[in-house]
Amino acid sequence: MDAVSGETSLSDDGVRVIAIDGPAGSGKSTVARRLAERLGLGYLDTGAMYRSVAFAAMAREIDLADASAIVEVARASDIEIDDSSVTVDGVDATTQIRGPEVTRSVSTVAAISGVREVLRVRQRAWVIERGGGVLEGRDIGTVVFPDAELKVYLSASAEVRAERRAGEVSALDYETVAADLAARDAADSTRQHDPLTQAPDAIHIDTTDLTVDEVVDELIARLG
Ligand code: C5P
Repeated sequence: MDAVSGETSLSDDGVRVIAIDGPAGSGKSTVARRLAERLGLGYLDTGAMYRSVAFAAMAREIDLADASAIVEVARASDIEIDDSSVTVDGVDATTQIRGPEVTRSVSTVAAISGVREVLRVRQRAWVIERGGGVLEGRDIGTVVFPDAELKVYLSASAEVRAERRAGEVSALDYETVAADLAARDAADSTRQHDPLTQAPDAIHIDTTDLTVDEVVDELIARLG
């Protein structure tokens, strides 16, 4: 990897990368986790990284409109993500990064190009350290690993996505979750830098009526 730009050449390094993108509630995390297990690869939830930066900025009471201060937070933050927990600057943030405050702020933080640059370099370094992995997010197949071995774009109906999220966030009712999700999707899909979009060479799977295993089996079959 080029230490300055964070650019990697997958063919040179021979790493195996699976990129899974899609909107909130499309099934990315569950599918990516299970696929990683089946392939014996590591799994990285890149959304948790953006959430961690939002959490760190809020903990320091930084104005979300102050882009350069938030880029500094991204640079300075120590973010540790493992299978079951997220630690930000030594503080266990596993629950809080999923809470409504962070969820409502994260798209603003993720729209800042400097933040994306910092996290992109870390995501590429994570893969190089492990010799590959399954990564899920919004721009993995389009920007972070455009040469990934397999690119997947998951979608599901707005109703099913909101139901899945509402099932996870017991403090909020379905209507609130559905409205928050629609606002976040709109922000993520229309932002200037690395918007959520399907890579032309990604496999598109609508998970509305599929089980996790059906999706994972389909992906394993595609890998050959
Ligand atoms: O995946 P999750 O819903 O936890 O992601 C939280 C937010 O992080 C997204 O709404 C998006 O704004 C941002 N994100 C991103 N690029 C990624 C992953 C997440 O912009 N690769």
